[in-house]
Amino acid sequence: MLVNISEITESITSKKVEYEIVGDELSEPSALKAQDLTLSYYRAGETICFRFTGTVTVDSVCDRCLDELELELDIDEDYYIFPENTPDVDYFYSGEFIDVDEYVREIVVMNMPGKVLCDEECKGLCSKCGANLNYGDCGCDAGDKF
Ligand SMILES: [Zn+2]
Ligand SMILES: [Zn+2]
Repeated sequence: MLVNISEITESITSKKVEYEIVGDELSEPSALKAQDLTLSYYRAGETICFRFTGTVTVDSVCDRCLDELELELDIDEDYYIFPENTPDVDYFYSGEFIDVDEYVREIVVMNMPGKVLCDEECKGLCSKCGANLNYGDCGCDAGDKF
């Protein structure tokens, strides 16, 4: 989705984010499934402010037991975007448009948890037989389990 810079005013405008999922936003085994984001923007002089709020849904697997799961990540991110060649800032604009897709991709990556667990108490897999111990005891020696 492109935002036309000339249409960004000092009053806040909100839009539903349109973003076509490419599939390479996250590294395997995680994949972006859906987004429900709203972009609010306005300008303060030459500085353009973007605020993204809403949720993104990610398909992933538990790091410990490898069960598939779905993560719903709450998003609330602000960006301050400056004219090209402004020193010491992270985000720039140039030309007529700002490409919102680039921000969406970054938001998805930044909001992924470092560790994905189906449950804080996930028991993981048996080191001997590979059974998912969340579904019950596999019968192997307790000493052989994680
Ligand atoms: Zn798990
Ligand atoms: Zn076992």
